[in-house]
Amino acid sequence: MKKIVIAIDGWSSCGKSTLARQLADELGYLFIDSGAMYRAITLQFLRNHVNWESKSQVEKAIGDIELEFIQDPVEQKQHIHLNGENVEYEIRDMVIAEKVSEIAAIREVREFAVEQQRKMGRSKGIVMDGRDIGTVVFPNAELKLFMTADNAVRVERRFKELYAKNPQVTIEEVKNNLEMRDYLDSHREVSPLRKAHDAIELDNSDLTPEDQFRIALQWAREKIAMAE
Ligand code: C5P
Repeated sequence: MKKIVIAIDGWSSCGKSTLARQLADELGYLFIDSGAMYRAITLQFLRNHVNWESKSQVEKAIGDIELEFIQDPVEQKQHIHLNGENVEYEIRDMVIAEKVSEIAAIREVREFAVEQQRKMGRSKGIVMDGRDIGTVVFPNAELKLFMTADNAVRVERRFKELYAKNPQVTIEEVKNNLEMRDYLDSHREVSPLRKAHDAIELDNSDLTPEDQFRIALQWAREKIAMAE
């Protein structure tokens, strides 16, 4: 059976990764959470006190980064490894969320990440979620989705997720962070977040995860059949 590329973009906390993972599992495709790559790069920059206003420091820091997705035997899902260390949990912290959009706006950082993302998709059979997947990384993807949801719904979802790990987190903090990231991601000069002209918009404010999955899977199957 012919394999396709599925690109899922959209605003922060719309459930992109959840849908991408479900589709990949069902179709036997590779799932890549491109946001995890930008988060891991941010973690490395913060740990090493990189001054990201300095091009030479950024280039040097990127040269020292190796990213890999490895299947976690316990959770049965891919975890991102930064220079051999599993950083899947650490990159989800608020400290990273506060800085990631600034670092993801740097041209050299994007070039580094996009090059790896394209390599991962070379043999197709991939579902990748992010902000520029359908516009820049895989402009020829057979299926492109652009996900949206009401702000209040997104804030609540992300708050629940973060609160489970850290009860210190407040709703206000989560709301501000989502608004800030959406603003920075859609206003940056390099690869801003926008809907590709050929992407299907999927608003999941009132959809259950099961309904959303069923709809997207149907679209994927249609595209696969067309690719035959
Ligand atoms: O998807 P997630 O919310 O984990 O992404 C974290 C951040 O990484 C985003 O807010 C955005 O700044 C950046 N990102 C990006 N391009 C992508 C994926 C993520 O700029 N393809």
